[in-house]
Amino acid sequence: MDSNLKTGFIGLGAMGWPMALNLHKAKLLAAAYNRTHAKAVALAKETGCLAAKDILELAKHCGAVVLCVTADQDVLQVMDALAATLKPESLVIDCSTVSAATAREAAARLSKRKIDFLDCPVSGGTEGAKHGTLAMMCGGNEKAFQRAQPILNALGKRIVLMGSVGAGQATKAVNQIAVAGIAQAITEALAFAEAEDLPLDKVIDVVGSGAAGSWFMTHRGPTIAQGRYPLGFKVTLHDKDLGIVQQMAAARGAQLPVVEMTRVHYRRLLQAGHGDEDISALFRLKRQLFKH
Ligand code: NAP
Repeated sequence: MDSNLKTGFIGLGAMGWPMALNLHKAKLLAAAYNRTHAKAVALAKETGCLAAKDILELAKHCGAVVLCVTADQDVLQVMDALAATLKPESLVIDCSTVSAATAREAAARLSKRKIDFLDCPVSGGTEGAKHGTLAMMCGGNEKAFQRAQPILNALGKRIVLMGSVGAGQATKAVNQIAVAGIAQAITEALAFAEAEDLPLDKVIDVVGSGAAGSWFMTHRGPTIAQGRYPLGFKVTLHDKDLGIVQQMAAARGAQLPVVEMTRVHYRRLLQAGHGDEDISALFRLKRQLFKH
């Protein structure tokens, strides 16, 4: 293994675990660190990588690090630990979804030690993470992007450099607005179909084959039809992402109706204890519209 590409993975959650496994398959995974250490130990058992006790131990064994943690403050916390421990000229690739401003702050903290940074938020859900088919929207310089290719190719299928640091996260914000609208439309449409006593499996088949066909209809339609909302993409996480979008839009003096409405709906789901379900749980609210 090229020692510069010996990769450490931080954050073995719903996305990070299968992504780390794909790095292992590409013979790039050297070490893993997870806040809850038991997960790193389990991955080490499966792959033979080092289960690092802390970020210092991970950094000693890696020339590159991929992270996929929850939110802005988590990324900055990890970044401070990496800035203090990684060798100069190392490469950090952040696949978490955070604001463009956080990406720029992360890059600034690392650049003091001459460590390269790419923001690389992903889309494609846990299925995309498992199959190595994620769409990856990257921000950073061309040199870092080229250097990261073996790592990115192990994780994703469509990998695009969108511009300088932060441009990846701005593109992901675009994605999250579209996902909100699609989830709203499909769950509302299927609740209407149910109220009309239509067979949902046939609706998903025929409507999904026409102009309303979408990833969400194909992948989430069948479980929605069974009244199940397995992960997927947690309501809490999409709500966090839409909060980022709201801030970015507000900075430009805009309020986005789909985003505002979806956050109201997510608040209701959260209050009812459904925050850890997939966003297709919006169907719960749409169904209620027909129960008078
Ligand atoms: P998740 O299952 O909740 O996993 C989060 C991971 O981050 C866990 O391993 C957690 O450690 C770790 N973590 C959180 N805060 C940390 C901190 N301060 N320091 C160290 N580790 C920390 O979330 P996920 O679904 O994998 O999502 C991860 C990121 O990808 C999020 O930004 C999300 O918005 C984005 N994303 C998710 C999806 C999706 O479909 N799920 C799709 C695209 C993008 P513990 O094990 O100790 O909790």
